[in-house]
Amino acid sequence: MTQPLEGKPISFWIDSTPTTTFPSLASGITVDVAIAGGGIAGLTAAMLLKRAGKTVAVIEARQIITGTSGHTTAKVTSLHQLIYADLIKQHGEEKARLYGESNQAAIERVAQFVAEEQIDCDFKRTSAYSFAESEQDLSKVKDEVEAASKLGLPVSFVRETSLPFAIAGAVKFDNQSQFHVRKYLLHLANLISGNGSYVFEGTTVQKVEDGEPCRVITNQGVVQARAVIVTTNLPILNEGLYLQNISQTLLHYWCSD
Ligand SMILES: Cc1cc2nc3c(=O)[nH]c(=O)nc-3n(C[C@H](O)[C@H](O)[C@H](O)COP(=O)(O)OP(=O)(O)OC[C@H]3O[C@@H](n4cnc5c(N)ncnc54)[C@H](O)[C@@H]3O)c2cc1C
Repeated sequence: MTQPLEGKPISFWIDSTPTTTFPSLASGITVDVAIAGGGIAGLTAAMLLKRAGKTVAVIEARQIITGTSGHTTAKVTSLHQLIYADLIKQHGEEKARLYGESNQAAIERVAQFVAEEQIDCDFKRTSAYSFAESEQDLSKVKDEVEAASKLGLPVSFVRETSLPFAIAGAVKFDNQSQFHVRKYLLHLANLISGNGSYVFEGTTVQKVEDGEPCRVITNQGVVQARAVIVTTNLPILNEGLYLQNISQTLLHYWCSD
């Protein structure tokens, strides 16, 4: 017999924080860097650029942190299920090491922002696990431990976790973290606007024209910028063949339906 799930069908992070009310773009502005998309990638880039002395405009089509970033599991970790054995096999040890190191650096970047800006976002250091329930799958876990260890990551093999059921074994990464992703990002967003920098909501980027300056065409007007960063998660410009690939993939799915 099926049982109804308790709770609300909404992201906890969105439900437990205030709605944002950043303005839409009202008139043409000029900044050093325009950033399309107000998720973790866009807000982090904006924060780092503003700290480096640049003026920025984050341009968000809907409301910031309501896209993928507002719907995550909010773990900040280098352990992504089982990935390192596969990365080494497919791309070699050097690239796999770079991937691991950049993920470790990202954890420290978040931790530093939290400490420096005193962000009240339930940030907590904790271990991350990927586990196998059956002995059958244990070899994959052991391969992952060996691969991550070779790359210098903080890994160990364990048979015990705090899970309320028995497991065959797990990959454990020490000193990873978790946080309230919206509390964290709302704090960053509030530090971005001001002194010639902006966060715009309800402003959709439609086109980017290269030039000096570049022109970011939105449904609310034009933003001029020396550089443009697109952090919309899914590509919005027909650059780098991504859109073509996606449309071909979709076409393939539709045709094979
Ligand atoms: C279910 C789920 C759980 C996850 N859990 C984790 C996790 O625990 N830990 C982790 O590290 N990663 C996790 N991830 C992956 C991670 O969440 C994403 O990689 C990350 O949040 C993406 O951030 P982003 O800023 O690139 O995109 P988003 O957060 O999606 O932000 C992109 C923004 O761009 C805006 N936008 C789109 N088009 C336009 C346009 N034309 N003009 C202006 N704005 C536009 C969107 O409205 C959106 O707000 C998870 C992903 C999913 C799907």
